[in-house]
Amino acid sequence: MDIIKIDKALVVGLGYRTGPAVSNFLVSKGIDTSVTDIKDEKELYPIIAGLDEKVEIYAGSQEPEILDRGFDIVVLSPGVPKKIPLIREALRRKIPVISEIELAYMFIKGDIIAITGTDGKTTTTSLMGHVLEELGFHVLVGGNIGKPLISIAEKTGSDSVTLIELSSFQLETVKNFRPHISAILNVTPDHLDRYDDMNEYFEAKLRITMNQRSHDFYIYNRDDPMLAENLNGIKAQKLSFSLKDKSAAAYYDGAVVHLKDEDKYIEVIDAHKMQLTGLHNIQNVMAALLMIRSLYKKKKFNADFKGIAEGFYRFPGLEHRMENIGTFKERHFINDSKATTIGSVKMAIESIKGNCILILGGKRKGDDYSRLAESMNGKVRSVILIGESKDEFMKLFNKYNCVAAESIDDAVIKAMQESSEGDVILLSPACASFDMFKSYEERGAAFKESFKKLVKGDLSCT
Ligand code: ADP
Repeated sequence: MDIIKIDKALVVGLGYRTGPAVSNFLVSKGIDTSVTDIKDEKELYPIIAGLDEKVEIYAGSQEPEILDRGFDIVVLSPGVPKKIPLIREALRRKIPVISEIELAYMFIKGDIIAITGTDGKTTTTSLMGHVLEELGFHVLVGGNIGKPLISIAEKTGSDSVTLIELSSFQLETVKNFRPHISAILNVTPDHLDRYDDMNEYFEAKLRITMNQRSHDFYIYNRDDPMLAENLNGIKAQKLSFSLKDKSAAAYYDGAVVHLKDEDKYIEVIDAHKMQLTGLHNIQNVMAALLMIRSLYKKKKFNADFKGIAEGFYRFPGLEHRMENIGTFKERHFINDSKATTIGSVKMAIESIKGNCILILGGKRKGDDYSRLAESMNGKVRSVILIGESKDEFMKLFNKYNCVAAESIDDAVIKAMQESSEGDVILLSPACASFDMFKSYEERGAAFKESFKKLVKGDLSCT
């Protein structure tokens, strides 16, 4: 498809950032652009204010009849499912429906690295960005990470490396998108409220490698059975990482990350020197290392692994992801508010030493939480339940000592009461935050605020 030949475009779903970025981009290309969203104008107000005044807005409904206005193309925002009647009708009328990623892809120059997975996408993408920048590459980062890809597409050049974090929603509508290097970090159940089943979710993730060719690279987690067993049909060179299998292209021996370089293994990263902690982050590090190695191969550059390792050691980690916030009365507080999946909470528990008091709950996602209840044995001393999932979780986690809390302050007080010296007090909720907060960031900030109050003596634990 040639963007130059498009006269009239419809953007479906305004979202917070992507819809406005796409709409304004299309206007900048001289395209007559409309946007539609199910929310009404009042609800959309702050977002509409950021739109170019040439954009026509159809707010409050997403009726298929909008298409009678004659569009050459429909651009679908990642938050909107493909199954809605408007999109079905567009496809029936043979109007091309593309994603923001696909649109941006038409404009990206240079090397493209795309990263997906249920958990660890933002950490791995940010880590890669940090290391590659330190190595002197011209790096641009976008996608699901909070910066629409379309907003960086035209900043790329032939020497740049574009790092793209992709969600399964963004991958659903991929047609031509072809990263030179791709990675799937893990696939565990998530978003099953949007997908009919796990296979459908997995299929969406696999689309990251669908258009790759034999000289491209595909990096995957060998310890993830779904990924390890589904390699047929992938044309790219396959490189795996593992926490246990020493024949993987990168593996961890409990202390050091080894990388296969030509036909021998070299020791590259000493885990003790890293600021990132936990086995899940070792997986992210191995994936990032393989992607960087592949980039050097593609560019035919010699890799200085010592320099690369230094970049990994200097990465400080991200807020709200196993973030150490401090110690009070020998209790160590960790903010893992971004842990909204069962997989990430399991990893959090696994990566702490000793016992923990787990603060859990919120707006449930379509997953089977009994999986989590079964796997918490050993380390979790008490579970403090917050949010709308409280009553259900109270029953589900009944083999643990469960205590209900009314607020984050209350959860911190109760966690203090339930804990002993040396314990970790871990906010790792396994749920979305929207029942109590606007976002996981706000939830994490509230937890940090409660910790501060505790230290100042403004929260009484007696
Ligand atoms: P995403 O962008 O995929 O949501 P993040 O990097 O933001 O992932 O991390 C989200 C949560 O998942 C955090 O709680 C983090 O500690 C945890 N996490 C990070 N990497 C992994 C991994 N490889 N496996 C499981 N959990 C992970």
